[in-house]
Amino acid sequence: MITASPAERLSSPEPDWRESWRNAVTDAHELLRLVELEHLALRLPAGDAGFALRVPRGFVARMRPGDPRDPLLLQVLPQLAELEHAPGFVADAVGDLAAREAQGVLHKYHGRALLIASGSCAVNCRYCFRRHFPYGEEIAAAGQWRQALDHLRADRSISELILSGGDPLALATSKLEELSRGLAELPHVTRLRIHTRLPVVLPERIDGPFLAWLGGLRLQTVVVLHANHSREFDAGVDAACASLRQAGATLLNQSVLLRGINDDADTLGALSERLFAAGVLPYYLHQLDRVQGAAHFEVDDARALALVEEIRKRLPGYLVPRLVREVAGDASKRPL
Ligand SMILES: *Cc1c(COP(=O)(O)O)cnc(C)c1O
Ligand code: SF4
Repeated sequence: MITASPAERLSSPEPDWRESWRNAVTDAHELLRLVELEHLALRLPAGDAGFALRVPRGFVARMRPGDPRDPLLLQVLPQLAELEHAPGFVADAVGDLAAREAQGVLHKYHGRALLIASGSCAVNCRYCFRRHFPYGEEIAAAGQWRQALDHLRADRSISELILSGGDPLALATSKLEELSRGLAELPHVTRLRIHTRLPVVLPERIDGPFLAWLGGLRLQTVVVLHANHSREFDAGVDAACASLRQAGATLLNQSVLLRGINDDADTLGALSERLFAAGVLPYYLHQLDRVQGAAHFEVDDARALALVEEIRKRLPGYLVPRLVREVAGDASKRPL
């Protein structure tokens, strides 16, 4: 193996994460070419089925060439099934619009306020509620976070702030610094939680300036990743997780139970083991939000429960995620 000398490494610095972001694959034909499945082009829906294809090249590199059932590919490739009408699958499946309290602020659960920090993601997951969310005006980061901060200052019951989206780490680190300066106005907030898929799909986002920001916060920090399959992990993801932990964050993961992708006990068990190897504990296993265009991913509740019972027999309790569904109007995620 040839390794670069330190001097060589300095003269060819790691590409900036924004470059990887911009270079993402956005064309379905190109994606199929990269994974050697050109013949599937006939099965692509016209116009990406109303939700653009987007996937970083580093994530594509983890797909198995020539495998049309690859679990990473199936999360991002538009399918004809998305165009089928399915009763009960709607645009605002989780009642987000009703929980809005200020620009980009959702307050559904006691003590926790969720900020829609950004409307963008590095990857577009076909099963996501985001495919229909009207982000236009609903970004908490707009105007130096002013509306959100004013609202949060007035509500002393909130001790935990959750940055979500979209992906909050789509924001420049300078935008996150702006928020943390504002947090000085909110002494009642003691925890900051970040819901992000970027450490998994674009681990180069976890760079020096971001880690310095995270490590310098006065708050306790929790980073909730989103991975659905053990094969989403590679050395780059492991390194990002290790850095996050070194910066003081507790690492958790949420997954979505997806038919044809992770709906068997071996796959779920392997995911939990792989998470723990990266220093991450499984948190939630979500039943799919019933969003229009995602019905073909749904696993029925009886099978979901049976799967979790099966992994409970195989794994230590701390590696068994909580199976939940989000129900509009509930006071918490609903356990199944
Ligand atoms: C899921 C969610 C939370 C976090 O719930 P936890 O059970 O604490 O993980 C908070 N606010 C909103 C609006 C949510 O959708
Ligand atoms: S919000 Fe999460 S699940 Fe939805 S597209 Fe973005 S990364 Fe994927």
